[in-house]
Amino acid sequence: MHCLLLPILLSFVAVSLTAAERPNVLIIVADDLGYNDVGFNGGKDIATPHLDKLAARSVRCTNGYVSHPFCSPTRAGLLTGRYQHRFGHENNPAWLPQSTKDGLPIDQITLPQLLKRAGYATGHVGKWHLGAHPQFHPMKRGFDESFAALGGGHLYFADGKGGEEYKIPLNRNGVDEPQRGYLTDQFGDEAAAYVQRHADGKPWMLYLAFNAPHTPLQAPENWLAKFADITDKNRRTYAAMVACMDDNIGKVLSALETTKQSENTLVTFVSDNGGPHLARKGNGMTDFADNSPLRGCKGDVYDGGIRVPFLVSWPAKLKPSVYSQPVIALDFFATSVSVASGEMPTDRAMDGVNLIPYLAGEKNEAPHKILFWRSGGLNGLHGARMGDWKYVAAAGKAPELYDLASDIGETKNLASEKPDVLKKLQDAVAEWEKGTVPPVFDGAKQGKPKTKKKSK
Ligand code: CA
Repeated sequence: MHCLLLPILLSFVAVSLTAAERPNVLIIVADDLGYNDVGFNGGKDIATPHLDKLAARSVRCTNGYVSHPFCSPTRAGLLTGRYQHRFGHENNPAWLPQSTKDGLPIDQITLPQLLKRAGYATGHVGKWHLGAHPQFHPMKRGFDESFAALGGGHLYFADGKGGEEYKIPLNRNGVDEPQRGYLTDQFGDEAAAYVQRHADGKPWMLYLAFNAPHTPLQAPENWLAKFADITDKNRRTYAAMVACMDDNIGKVLSALETTKQSENTLVTFVSDNGGPHLARKGNGMTDFADNSPLRGCKGDVYDGGIRVPFLVSWPAKLKPSVYSQPVIALDFFATSVSVASGEMPTDRAMDGVNLIPYLAGEKNEAPHKILFWRSGGLNGLHGARMGDWKYVAAAGKAPELYDLASDIGETKNLASEKPDVLKKLQDAVAEWEKGTVPPVFDGAKQGKPKTKKKSK
């Protein structure tokens, strides 16, 4: 009897000690959430009490960026720790299950692959949007388990209206599964269950990617009722979607607390890009997201497209504070690998940094000398941020230069007044671009219904 039990007990003790030292990693991503549409960034009309509570125990990064102004490339950057332009992932992949080209290239090393190698359990819940071919499935890219909306978005109710890509069945561990109830609730429940299920085992990572509050604008009646005072129908529905997502994030945070994992879990929160301004497209939609005080929206390399709500919480190590040096979601990779005592890839250029020493006040210099953006390939939009200087360039237009310290809304172009600064940024962008490649797959119009849409 003893002979049988002893090895089991020993291995259990070893795993428990490891779990106690290394934090769990919970990465929460919202979809198309406006910079000012959370309470902790100053938003007033949409209550986000759970995110605000998380913010109160986080380092709130006020100059937190993502590496792209729209969905899939940001996710490719976040999960690889590299500017996605290095491997041509600059567009949203179309839903093409036969294509081995339209997705996150399989020669890219993902964060869950490395954490798994470091002994972590790895889970994914939510939107994927990194390719439709089976080779791109989350479980082929490092996740032990996955409950996914595999495309670029999904209907919130099973009988809702939307594009064909949004009707692709939900997928649990490679097997299609019917949708039950409101999707944001389902993702919240799945994530909370994951947290509970893994409480007593080895350390874990969970990538929780809500498709909310991305279109289609569909919200449950009980949440709509809470925003009866918002007269614009789209804003009201969007507000209900944001509040419901906040509530579901609350479920996950509550699961961390009841299982006593809050203290030693690294929790990050970002939106994958800025809020959209659909009115600009002239399709009858009104604007419903609020990126103020930033200029522009999803799709832009003005800050409204790329600067997002950005939180990093790890109570065991980080004191709550506000951090204003520029940081980027690419940093989650090196940060997570570091806290997991994993090993970073050494055979390729990596772009993020381990944020912990900076956020803990151990390092005072800026984590990044400069950050870069490009959308639309070599001739597309370019952006860069160096200190407080922000550079924006579009083909055929005069270059733009802004001083974000005095002009957060990017209103006064200083390019002609500061030619030396402009040149420094242009030279840096040109140098960075040498390490990039053109897009390897064409962009799909994300969210564009492929079936004929009834007009109302
Ligand atoms: Ca998005």
